[in-house]
Amino acid sequence: MVRKIIASILMVLLTMNFAACKAAPKETRYESDFLVLFNTVTKIVAYTESKEEFTRYSKLIYDELKEYHELYDIYNSYDGKNNIKTINDHAGIKPVKVDQKIIDLLLFSKDEYKITDGKVNIALGAVLKIWHDYRKEGIDDFENAKVPPRDKLEAARTHTDINKVIIDEVESTVFLEDPHMSLDVGAIAKGYAVEQVAKLAIENGFESGLISVGGNVRAIGHKGQSKEVWNVGIQNPEKDAAQPILKVVYLSDMSLVTSGNYERYYTVDGKKYHHIIDTETLFPSEYVTAVTIICPDSGVADSLSTAVFNMSFEEGLAFIDDLPDTEAVWILNNGDIKYSAHFKDLIKE
Ligand code: ADP
Ligand code: MG
Repeated sequence: MVRKIIASILMVLLTMNFAACKAAPKETRYESDFLVLFNTVTKIVAYTESKEEFTRYSKLIYDELKEYHELYDIYNSYDGKNNIKTINDHAGIKPVKVDQKIIDLLLFSKDEYKITDGKVNIALGAVLKIWHDYRKEGIDDFENAKVPPRDKLEAARTHTDINKVIIDEVESTVFLEDPHMSLDVGAIAKGYAVEQVAKLAIENGFESGLISVGGNVRAIGHKGQSKEVWNVGIQNPEKDAAQPILKVVYLSDMSLVTSGNYERYYTVDGKKYHHIIDTETLFPSEYVTAVTIICPDSGVADSLSTAVFNMSFEEGLAFIDDLPDTEAVWILNNGDIKYSAHFKDLIKE
């Protein structure tokens, strides 16, 4: 994480803020990067009439993303604000009054649980916390890194029932019925927040831009007034590969989200243990190396990227090919690249 942050800082230093490219009015491309939100780098690219207009949109996007980041945070508290951590802290104690943005995320996440047959479960916090703690200790003291014992994980499994997340829409409260359960919205919240913020920006007149929060990309409209669509790269999991971008995808009013085993992990006895947990084995999924989802809604894309990462390629392919307006690309463990039925329409050879 620290390395990621340092890399991000370098990236920001290297990128000139508000850099403008072309000079023609209405066709000027602006770009900005900022740190902190969702522990990752946020990037905005847009074509606007003026720098002022760009600044107005990027401020709106930044302020809104910050609000979502604070509300959806499971690790930190914020003065005068009930967030997901507050809900977790009151598990088995009492319902917590929360902002509608939290209620909406949790309702959305319950739907996604159903659609994905439980492969993405925001009530998996008890299990994910064990992996999080072992990963943190294993990174800080790598010589003594350990894998969590199975019985500990199995005991935590008994506290992951999403039906015990009680949402009262009239009272605007959330109550976790099981005192030992907790929410972890890491698989969904970032993409969901990007989608809501993109919609708000569009309502405010934003018609040509790319919003990327740590690789959760949402493409809006075309590049300025041209007919050109946005180009978004799918990253090569091999960090030092000669070809850092595997494929370039053409997108307009679409989202692209990747889940992979190469971003967050720790190593025990030479074996890597990453951060996406198979709800059946309670261990990191080993089916594939990475999955990229492309569909209109960035919240759905985020949820599906985690869910499909938790399926074999064959199961994932059947699942995706059944969904409208949804495509996927898999990087298999042997390096082969596979596509859903109509994915090829979106790529540049
Ligand atoms: P990233 O966080 O790299 O964008 P994902 O969208 O795939 O990747 O989310 C991974 C995060 O989701 C993990 O860090 C963890 O907090 C949470 N998570 C891991 N496995 C599951 C799962 N099976 N169901 C729900 N959440 C999960
Ligand atoms: Mg996800």
